[in-house]
Amino acid sequence: MNPTEVFSFTDGLGIDGETVWLEQSPFTTKVDVTTHPIQSTPTGRSVLVSGGSRGIGAAIASRFAGDGHRVANLSRSGRGAASGGLAVACDVTDSESVDLAVKKATEANGPIDVLIANAGITDDKLMLRMGEDSFADVLDTNLTGAYRLVKAVSGPMLRNRWGRIVFISSVVAMSGSAGQANYAASKAGLIGLARSLAREFGPRGVTCNVVAPGFIDTDMTAELSATRRDDIVDSIPLSRIGSPEDVAATVDFLTSDAGGYVTGAVIPVDGGLGMGH
Ligand code: NDP
Repeated sequence: MNPTEVFSFTDGLGIDGETVWLEQSPFTTKVDVTTHPIQSTPTGRSVLVSGGSRGIGAAIASRFAGDGHRVANLSRSGRGAASGGLAVACDVTDSESVDLAVKKATEANGPIDVLIANAGITDDKLMLRMGEDSFADVLDTNLTGAYRLVKAVSGPMLRNRWGRIVFISSVVAMSGSAGQANYAASKAGLIGLARSLAREFGPRGVTCNVVAPGFIDTDMTAELSATRRDDIVDSIPLSRIGSPEDVAATVDFLTSDAGGYVTGAVIPVDGGLGMGH
């Protein structure tokens, strides 16, 4: 058996003549996915959700698990949603932790077919008070964390010629948000990442899309005052705060076979808040 497969960037892709060798074991953790017995089917995919312990990620993980997919749910705490599949402790700011979590997920569920890069943090401050550590930490989790996840799971996806990657960005990636320069920059970065990967991975049947939620009712938004929440609701055309399940429904479509001709898209799930951006 040929141990490697050549993936040439001459095939309608951006970098002429560059060749990538898709080794059988691209992980530092060496999982032989070619001999793994678990097969992917449209109703039984291997799904990895980062930040699946609560909020939007938990709703996404629960929806996939409820539909019969095999879900691995990554978070620092290692807590899983009650119906969200296998819970794995993982810090997306640490490459070794990500590689190990992907190894565990692959051993349990088979090579990852669907990646939802959802883990995210905020550290809101006005620019004059925003230290470099605050800027770098938010970028490291929200943007570089997504890069680490893609790096760890994409080899088998490309070899299998089928895959779905969804990045959870935010409405503020397009609109900007005072006091959130670090967060908005990280979320805008996900769009450039996704669209570049959509071009790189498209010829191999792997779609890469971005979901941009607006104001969603989770721990991340729970600390706002009632007055502030009322002001936000007033600015949303659908006049309500979104639920994590609203986001999960759009992720479900993008990762389904029905969503197979959508790539490089940024889909708002924001009740109309970001219209025009
Ligand atoms: P929550 O704060 O409720 O949950 C964040 C999740 O990310 C938790 O599961 C947390 O788990 C995990 N997480 C955070 N840091 C890390 C890390 N370094 N490694 C692994 N896991 C991590 O957030 P939401 O559910 O509200 O948000 C989910 C995503 O949606 C985020 O990317 C957020 O930016 C985005 N979003 C949210 C909006 C909202 O209104 N809620 C609006 C727009 C976008 P643990 O603490 O156990 O590590």
